[in-house]
Amino acid sequence: MRSFAFHRPSTLYEMSALLGGVADSMPLAGGMTLLPTIKQRLAAPAALIDLSKIPQMSGISFKDDVLTIGAMTRHVDVAESELVRGKIPLLASLAAGIGDPAVRNRGTIGGSVANNDPSADYPAAVLALDAIVVTDRREIAADAFFRGLFETALEPGEIITALRFPVPSAGGYAKFKSPASRYAVVGVCAAKKAGKVRVAVTGAGPGVFRVGAMEAALEGSFTPGAVAAIKVSSENLSSDIHADAEYRAHLVTVMAKKAIAAALQTL
Ligand SMILES: Cc1cc2nc3c(=O)[nH]c(=O)nc-3n(C[C@H](O)[C@H](O)[C@H](O)COP(=O)(O)OP(=O)(O)OC[C@H]3O[C@@H](n4cnc5c(N)ncnc54)[C@H](O)[C@@H]3O)c2cc1C
Repeated sequence: MRSFAFHRPSTLYEMSALLGGVADSMPLAGGMTLLPTIKQRLAAPAALIDLSKIPQMSGISFKDDVLTIGAMTRHVDVAESELVRGKIPLLASLAAGIGDPAVRNRGTIGGSVANNDPSADYPAAVLALDAIVVTDRREIAADAFFRGLFETALEPGEIITALRFPVPSAGGYAKFKSPASRYAVVGVCAAKKAGKVRVAVTGAGPGVFRVGAMEAALEGSFTPGAVAAIKVSSENLSSDIHADAEYRAHLVTVMAKKAIAAALQTL
């Protein structure tokens, strides 16, 4: 591994100054993706800015029907939070299904959303729950945040500080996981709020996406049967050693039915 400088700011102000002032610096959350990337020489930052000691970036709170999760909150903390389990149970079970205990004990919700891996679980929940991505500069709606393969609306040096999730009346997540990494081969999140339904798919293509036909059908009847005959086109889906595009298209319908069945349990 190449050598690099290491900074551990304790305020957002100090963090922003470092990210803006130190050339080739990168923020470090749990390091679950960033450190292997550096080891493989796919990234070579001159400095890492550790986000772990900034108090405003951790913790979970609830106010005005919105669950706010600090960006540095680890997957294990989301999975075990009574507040999350009570308000948005799909988020707790999603977090409990990420990777293995080592990954859940280091990986963070902010790192996952910022990284926007096409097979990551959280992007589906952020999009289906119509969450707000809060940064050190602004608030970004989920629909405007994800821009495709590892691409987001974040500008250079911009940091996610928290995720704000409006509490749905019902919501569920189901994934067909890789048996090795537990990443989603296909994962579907469905959420209903005020008569509107949002369905978001991860793992299937180069980035998370919504399925309008399923959303319209579910607004008529929020049941697994409503989507049973809806199949997404395989045209823009991914093919790799885990599954080809046609199989992934099939899995979207299967996982959508499971997600809605899970959502009905929360009603
Ligand atoms: C073996 C293994 C299995 C995994 N399985 C799954 C799985 O089943 N499902 C799943 O969803 N994920 C999975 N992951 C990913 C994991 O959940 C982590 O969330 C992900 O790797 C990001 O890690 P991190 O939070 O430690 O961020 P880091 O690795 O520290 O950072 C990731 C990237 O985001 C940037 N960054 C970090 N925090 C912020 C922030 N607040 N604002 C802006 N930029 C930021 C960093 O600069 C870096 O570019 C797996 C990872 C591993 C290693």
